[in-house]
Amino acid sequence: MNTDRVRPPRIIILGGGFAGAYCAQQLEKSLRTVAADIWLIDRHNYFVFYPFLVEASTGSLEPRHAVVSIRSFLDRTQLHLGTVIGADPARHCITFTPGGSERAVEVAYDHLVVALGSVTRLPAVPGLAEHGFQLKSLADGVALRDRAIRMLELAHASGDPAVRRALLHFVVVGGNFTGVELAGEFQVFLREAAHRYRDLDPRECRVTLVEMADRILGALDPQLSEYARTQMEKRGTTVLLGTTATEVARTGVTLSTGERLSACTTIWCAGIAPPPVLPNLGLPLERHGYLHCDPDQRVHGFEDVWAIGDCAAHEVAGKALPATAQRAVRDGAHVAKNLHRVLTGKPPEPFRFDDAGSLAALGCRTAVAKVFGIRLSGFAAWFLWRTVYLFKMPGWSRRLRIAMDWTTGLLFPREHVQLGLHGHRADTLLDDLSEKPPTDR
Ligand SMILES: Cc1cc2nc3c(=O)[nH]c(=O)nc-3n(C[C@H](O)[C@H](O)[C@H](O)COP(=O)(O)OP(=O)(O)OC[C@H]3O[C@@H](n4cnc5c(N)ncnc54)[C@H](O)[C@@H]3O)c2cc1C
Repeated sequence: MNTDRVRPPRIIILGGGFAGAYCAQQLEKSLRTVAADIWLIDRHNYFVFYPFLVEASTGSLEPRHAVVSIRSFLDRTQLHLGTVIGADPARHCITFTPGGSERAVEVAYDHLVVALGSVTRLPAVPGLAEHGFQLKSLADGVALRDRAIRMLELAHASGDPAVRRALLHFVVVGGNFTGVELAGEFQVFLREAAHRYRDLDPRECRVTLVEMADRILGALDPQLSEYARTQMEKRGTTVLLGTTATEVARTGVTLSTGERLSACTTIWCAGIAPPPVLPNLGLPLERHGYLHCDPDQRVHGFEDVWAIGDCAAHEVAGKALPATAQRAVRDGAHVAKNLHRVLTGKPPEPFRFDDAGSLAALGCRTAVAKVFGIRLSGFAAWFLWRTVYLFKMPGWSRRLRIAMDWTTGLLFPREHVQLGLHGHRADTLLDDLSEKPPTDR
């Protein structure tokens, strides 16, 4: 590929998630009168609408309806499928491997926007990498749903109560938004699904939420955290506070209290980490490994490199900006305006962010929310949660599909079929469990 500088200026966006896709969309609008080549490089031709990932993992939504096609979202931008592997800011170029090839390709840019998101933080807990599950992609969501159904099938096939207890026990580590939403929805999903099995009692399905802090949903007011905990416990979820997991095994998880829970599925939702490719970009990183940015969204020390979304460490008034979709979307739109300013000879403006609030769904048509300073809980918060995110989902056709999924869900039970795409991890589980009967200690 030609690495020579080209005219009109080429803007390359790395990552087409919330920040990158909204940046490209705003650039298409802002640069209508300015000639520029907009490139977007991502591994996928879609971005995940994360607020709906838990619903897609528990069958309330068809998984395809929880993603947005980048090609239909954008018009003028050239989407290149591939994996970004490095950059050389001194030579103004990036390197990526295009989809379907292992050969690295170098491309020159005039402006680079890094929007590569984050990954789940997986600490060095023994057994976590081999046996733990996570929820950070559509594939993770489908895998989790498959796993749950597989566990129900295996439990149904086993007559041993101790084996069934381990198979039907799901441990979620991390009591922030993702962990709480997942634990709440999973509890409902499992118990509903268990009704389909003649020999299973839905009360055999257990979900335990493990949180290191002294309350769940620490970003919300204590009253809302307490409401969420009470609601979850009322429905049968066990919430363990001041606790974390110290070892994850195939049939159990050990807690920091020394207790061992017999549970075949542990889902790690505790924290995020920078994407592994960031250190290969030749850009300054702050102490946690995220890109060190100036208030105007430029990477510190660079005139033509910008960073937005989860991978960028921005501080406004001494406070680190949250890693949320809400911030990523506004980061993306603002950097597009800044690029327009720079390309038309004006200085960029600092990014300001006021958090509009947070919402967390708890399952069973309840949620907690704090929006524009107003606290809400229960059905009203849940209704607000669904309405807000439905209207934030881009495109009327997608909104309609989601509304139809929800309406169908009101009238008919969810489908509980295992697609078998990720079932291999459970293939010999019954043998393991019968060799070494699991116990809670
Ligand atoms: C389960 C879950 C639920 C959430 N719910 C909410 C919510 O309700 N509200 C909220 O505000 N926030 C929520 N969040 C957080 C929110 O989704 C993120 O903060 C947001 O997605 C960040 O946007 P981003 O563009 O920085 O990253 P992403 O949206 O993750 O996009 C990063 C993109 O970069 C691509 N990429 C990464 N590495 C490479 C590479 N090497 N090569 C090519 N492409 C690459 C990825 O494919 C991806 O498309 C949730 C997160 C999760 C995991």
